[in-house]
Amino acid sequence: MSAKPELNKVAKDLVISMDYELSVAGEVIDYSEADDPIVFIQGYENIIPGLEKAIEGMKIGESKEVLVKAAEAYGEYDPEGFVEVPKSEFPEDIPMEVGLEISVTNDEGEEMAAYIEEVSLDSITLNFNHPLAGKDLFFKVKIVAIREATAEELEHGHVHFDECDCGCDGDCDDEGCDCGK
Ligand code: ZN
Repeated sequence: MSAKPELNKVAKDLVISMDYELSVAGEVIDYSEADDPIVFIQGYENIIPGLEKAIEGMKIGESKEVLVKAAEAYGEYDPEGFVEVPKSEFPEDIPMEVGLEISVTNDEGEEMAAYIEEVSLDSITLNFNHPLAGKDLFFKVKIVAIREATAEELEHGHVHFDECDCGCDGDCDDEGCDCGK
């Protein structure tokens, strides 16, 4: 007999609602609004690996303070993670704005996030480091709710919200859709 997962503590395949506050170097940079926790499936890297590991086994109502080292958050800062692209090769439909996050497909066909670092006369420098790369992240978290994931959610690897009826198959690009992918 396969044991059903207990629904009172954080474990793989369960949908977790969690309040959080994120600080870097003593300064709060992000937090969930009151009554609006983040919702994700545990064990699918919907959240950074170090945080996922730290909350495993927490119970509903439990709070915790967690320091996640850069390597288990957004990775170490890569000083070589910059690429210069001639403006003539830059897609016309993307605004050339410093700080803008864009999606770049590499030679292996993988999509990677990059940030426009600099715009010069005839070239654009892309930064492949996440803005939080190299930073240790300090979280205060509280587990608010836990429920079972649906078979479809487990198949997609992300949470489906009631308001989402985009019919995505785990690769959702629909504008305004917050199915999370
Ligand atoms: Zn989906």
